[in-house]
Amino acid sequence: MPVLKIVTYGNPVLTRRADPVKKIDDEIRELAHNMVLTMHAAPGIGLAAPQVSVSRRVITVDLSVGEKPEELHVLINPEILEKEGEIYTEEGCLSVPGIEEKVRRPAKIKVRGLDLEGREKMLAASGTLARAFCHEIDHINGRLFIENLTPLKKALVKKKLRKQQEHD
Ligand SMILES: [Zn+2]
Repeated sequence: MPVLKIVTYGNPVLTRRADPVKKIDDEIRELAHNMVLTMHAAPGIGLAAPQVSVSRRVITVDLSVGEKPEELHVLINPEILEKEGEIYTEEGCLSVPGIEEKVRRPAKIKVRGLDLEGREKMLAASGTLARAFCHEIDHINGRLFIENLTPLKKALVKKKLRKQQEHD
C-alpha cells in the first residue's frame, strides 16, 4: 500500500469543495487506508482527501501518530453538529509547509460522520482533537487554515508562500 503525495498551497484541489461519498466501497476503503499511511509517514495528526488530490469528503485524524490504534479516526462525510467555546493557538498544515500561525477554533465540538463500514459515528472532541477535526473538515470545504487569519496576517503568509514557490 503506497504513501500518497501530499499537494501543497496553490494546488486548485485544495480550494475546491470536495464531493460527498455516496457509497463506501473498496476504492474508498483503500483511499482511507492510504491516507492513514500517508498521515503517519508525514508525520501529521490529520489529513483530508483533497490533500492527496482526491476531492472526496474523507478525513483521518490521529493525535497519537500511529502509537495508539484507539486514537485513529477515519470519518466519511463528516460534519460538525455543535461548537462551544474558543481556543486561540498555533496551527500548521502539511499542505502549507513552513507556516505556523495562531488560529481561533472552538474548544469543544460534536462531530458526526460514517466509519468505513458505513455506520454512523458521533464523537465529542475538545482541545487539540476538536481543532484537528475542524481543520480537516475545513479542508473538505476547500478552506485552508490560513484563511482564518486576519487580513494582514493572511497577506503576509501568502507573500511568504509565493516566495517559497518561486524557489521550488
Ligand atoms: Zn491541513
